Amino acid sequence: MRLTRYFLPVLRETPSEAQIVSHRYMLRAGMIKQASAGIYSWLPLGYKVLRRIEQIVHEEQVRAGHIPMLMPTLQSADLWRESGRYDDYGQEMLRVSDRHGRDMLYGPTNEELITDIFRSHVSSYKDLPLTLYHIQWKFRDEIRPRFGVMRGREFLMKDGYNFDLTKDDALHAYNRHLVSYLRTYERMGLQAIPMRADGGPIGGDYTHEFLVLADTGESEVFYDAEITDLKFGDRAIDYDSVEACQAVLEEFTSRYARTDETHDEAVFAEVPEARRRVARGIEVGQIFYFGTKYSEAMGATVQGPDGAQVPVHMGSHGIGVSRLLGAIIEANHDENGIIWPEGVTPFHCGIVNLKQGDDDADAACESLYQALVGKGLEPLYDDRNERAGGKFATMDLIGLPWRITVGPRGLKNGVVELTSRRTGESEELPPEAAVAKVAAIYEGR
Ligand code: ATP
Ligand code: MG
Repeated sequence: MRLTRYFLPVLRETPSEAQIVSHRYMLRAGMIKQASAGIYSWLPLGYKVLRRIEQIVHEEQVRAGHIPMLMPTLQSADLWRESGRYDDYGQEMLRVSDRHGRDMLYGPTNEELITDIFRSHVSSYKDLPLTLYHIQWKFRDEIRPRFGVMRGREFLMKDGYNFDLTKDDALHAYNRHLVSYLRTYERMGLQAIPMRADGGPIGGDYTHEFLVLADTGESEVFYDAEITDLKFGDRAIDYDSVEACQAVLEEFTSRYARTDETHDEAVFAEVPEARRRVARGIEVGQIFYFGTKYSEAMGATVQGPDGAQVPVHMGSHGIGVSRLLGAIIEANHDENGIIWPEGVTPFHCGIVNLKQGDDDADAACESLYQALVGKGLEPLYDDRNERAGGKFATMDLIGLPWRITVGPRGLKNGVVELTSRRTGESEELPPEAAVAKVAAIYEGR
């Protein structure tokens, strides 16, 4: 993409309504524009990152054997009356009526809709296990939408639902989700720690929230520092193996890590003092096994092996796709702007032409651009007629991990400059070598 042909409405001023750094940078980098409280338009740069995050979520869900689909945003109130949640949900639910006076709502989540689909089409245990998911916009009329996309009213969520014959099978689905989430967040350059959360009115130990540590997080968290040394990495995992998934769950949840809702001072005191941490975190996902709550209320049963009808065991598992942009920026920035992890960057590499209009510099930039495209990469070429300082400031703000700087002086010596946004370190090297190096960094991503 050439910047002169792109739509990147960068703001010079820091918008006064933004209280936290990710919100400020998303507005300043022209990624989002507020449409009304807690509701945003995704401008091209923000949309690009959102799509990359979605893509990673899809890939990891499919890898775990979960099946993508798409349910609507508007739902009929009738299903929610069946589960009993229509009245319980309160003012967070946006209710509308259609021209016939039918009660509808903008879905805050999808347990009812998916359970209805399940009961309409599945009648035998032989069709289990089954895990369906979608990535769809949700609406929750939050009392205090704030921090930009972090706590929006309209937000994008991946929500998945497992249907299993027995509790044990459903717990395997739970563990599988835990593993797939660890992989998902790591691919985005994030450490998200599974922490024991509150099961709410349903109770039970089977819920974990995934938290990204950040001072601006809304949750207070308590954990054993050892947990931050754990990495899933690129180890292979057989998602069908009950033992393998269970082992990962044990590895990642055996140390103390809880949100304030489940925090227990007495148990926490057993962690050696030097390792006890109290901090803040951003909830970027949650997994939940809730048994037969919805299947019983809504008659989602299957014929079991012995012929009897039994309600299925279910769980639901969410990832805050749009919130993740904020969380990633909170965890990856400096005073000049965003620093995208390679896994989610909107463009792989920036090209800055120090002397636009100079025949040699223009030609060198063009050929760099073509060479990067030839490697399957997407560069962003700043071809504006602007001072170098302004170009660097824009590149730093929008946070592309790599920048190639081209100027007449370097070209005389046959070199360009390759700079890492994260370390600020630069090296001079021939243009072909710079392309090869950037291509190698992204190989396999
Ligand atoms: P919170 O406690 O932050 O209100 P929640 O526990 O109500 O979230 P879930 O129902 O668990 O949310 O939804 C799954 C994920 O969706 C959350 O882990 C979070 O990442 C994301 N999410 C929830 N509410 C919002 C929101 N208002 N704006 C953006 N993302 C959200
Ligand atoms: Mg939650």
